[in-house]
Amino acid sequence: MSNLLRDRRTAAEWASVGQVIDIAEKISSFEHLAGIVEADLAVLDPDKLPSAWRDGVVAGQLRFGFADGNVRVATVTGHATAAVSAVCQRCLEPFQLTLNVAPQLLLLDEQETPDGYEDFEAWELTEEMLRPQDIIEELLIMALPFSATHDDMADCKAFSTEQESTGKIVRPFAALRSQMQRIEMDPDE
Ligand SMILES: [Zn+2]
Repeated sequence: MSNLLRDRRTAAEWASVGQVIDIAEKISSFEHLAGIVEADLAVLDPDKLPSAWRDGVVAGQLRFGFADGNVRVATVTGHATAAVSAVCQRCLEPFQLTLNVAPQLLLLDEQETPDGYEDFEAWELTEEMLRPQDIIEELLIMALPFSATHDDMADCKAFSTEQESTGKIVRPFAALRSQMQRIEMDPDE
């Protein structure tokens, strides 16, 4: 069965049939995203590398349609989540990051600047043929945090050790600190 995510059609073709695409993929299907994740994880010692990071699930749905009754302005809406492995920039341990995107996009040619669609963001089409996977991948890449850190400070080694010892939370040199922790850390404290 062909995967609609990787089909190429014009925005008008996707929209005119009201195409709905269920997304059930792995991170490895998204070449650019996987490359970024791989580069991020490269700082880890090999024994800390999450073994199945490429199998992280990307799930969701895209729906094509038109924003106007005149079926001129094509749209894509929907949602997707991605389970991405990342390195916490505070404690330099790998952790699981969940990316959430909820596209609400007007699919526009370069010259178009329609008014009256405040609920939508403009998505400029750079090619005539549109591959739905490319939109999801670009949105997921944009959703990557500039500096990934454990959401829950209880999970973060930098936080738990620092709070107990000095109460300060200042992390300018995470890499250096991580090395020092290996020497100083006392598992009984
Ligand atoms: Zn952390």
